Amino acid sequence: MTTSEVRDELLMAYAAGRVAEPVRLVLDTHLALSPRSRRAVRCYEAIGGALLETVPPEPLEPDALDRIMSCLDSAEPLPRRRARAEGDDQLIPAPLQAYLPPSLDDLEWVRYGPVAEAELLADVPGYRTRLLRIKAGKAVPRHTHEGSELTVVLQGAFRDGGERYARGDLSIADASVDHRPVAEEGEDCLCLAVTDAPLKLTGRFTRFLNPFVRI
Ligand code: ZN
Repeated sequence: MTTSEVRDELLMAYAAGRVAEPVRLVLDTHLALSPRSRRAVRCYEAIGGALLETVPPEPLEPDALDRIMSCLDSAEPLPRRRARAEGDDQLIPAPLQAYLPPSLDDLEWVRYGPVAEAELLADVPGYRTRLLRIKAGKAVPRHTHEGSELTVVLQGAFRDGGERYARGDLSIADASVDHRPVAEEGEDCLCLAVTDAPLKLTGRFTRFLNPFVRI
């Protein structure tokens, strides 16, 4: 499964209200900064709602994915002013602000070489939610994960496995990934990351689509 397929699965699960609070926080933050993903969620919500209204609980119709994709293709691009209104003009988008003190300096930052991290949602079992600040031009020590890792960039950018992730971009890594993200020169990279040790983001489309037809 490709990263974009996993991302779309995640957004479908989000649209169906089937993600835990830490994952929702990362996706809310990503959505505040990504018109493309907001449009996708609106399509999933619309099609999920239509299914709830019209079908009994049974397996998804075979053309459901085609309908979602045609919805995505036909949707009008969002005007830029809307993107700004939903968070582009402030460093911390509103959904994340609700979880933070007025100043990031008020968080309990712990430093590991070029990386500083501050834990959020410490009371949610099974997940680790952190703000990460990586010094410009420096790397996060190479690592892998027991579960999955979702990371959304708030400031600066990092490179990982040949890909570049900038503000608003969502990075998805799982236990098969052994990586060493590197912050770009010029600006520290601030990210929100969540890891879910016991769970993996490797399900099939149907697993996440089922909630749409379960009444
Ligand atoms: Zn990682």
